[in-house]
Amino acid sequence: MKVLEQLYEGKAKRVYATDRPDVVMVAYKDDATAFNGLKKGTITGKGAINNRMTNFLMKMLEKNGVPTHFIEEISSRETLVKKVSIIPLEVIVRNVAAGSLSKRLGLTEGTKLRRTVLEFCYKNDELGDPMVNEYHIAAMGWATAEQMQQIVSMALKVDEILTLYFKGVGVDLIDFKLEFGLTADGELVLADEISPDTCRFWDAETHEKLDKDRFRRDLGGVEEAYQEMSRRIMGE
Ligand code: UDP
Repeated sequence: MKVLEQLYEGKAKRVYATDRPDVVMVAYKDDATAFNGLKKGTITGKGAINNRMTNFLMKMLEKNGVPTHFIEEISSRETLVKKVSIIPLEVIVRNVAAGSLSKRLGLTEGTKLRRTVLEFCYKNDELGDPMVNEYHIAAMGWATAEQMQQIVSMALKVDEILTLYFKGVGVDLIDFKLEFGLTADGELVLADEISPDTCRFWDAETHEKLDKDRFRRDLGGVEEAYQEMSRRIMGE
């Protein structure tokens, strides 16, 4: 497979065309941003950790019946994935109140939610990724009702699988963000990444934060937190 020109550069990844029209390559960067790009920095080693962790988890989800865009890891920070058109939604899955939910509803961070909460945000940096509901999504034509049913059931299934898996490595999965895409054949698959950039991970015993909140909130030990998650999941 030949890697061709860069198609797109995002905040944390670059995407390249390949000589196969249905395949692209993603390359993970060490760049970190927060607060809609207002805060910028570098987390040394993050690109490689997020690449390998995402691929490890995507493979696990595939085995459990969740279709994903993953094809093959080709280096520590590069992976071949199915080319998809991304549904312009951030699907947020929450088990415990934290971050923007705590702020919005005045809940202490760490409050267990009685059931899993799903939220949808319209992916648009200029607008600051506003929260939308299924009426907005249908009205704007971002996804069909059938696709939304699939997205909801896949998101809940991912939550069940990941929550159980992370429990086994002593981590509480507080919340996370998913993105979905459509392949050329119209198959809905899980896309993007699953990493400390996109999930909140708390140590189950000490409740220490092991994710990007250490960067967002200037807590220190950012690289160490990513490395600790890498050790717990991939043993390295
Ligand atoms: N999240 C993300 N990208 C975003 C917004 C949120 O990956 O653009 C993740 C975030 O890491 C957290 C979850 O989604 O695990 C819920 O985030 P929240 O809505 O609390 O927003 P935040 O407090 O991160 O601004």
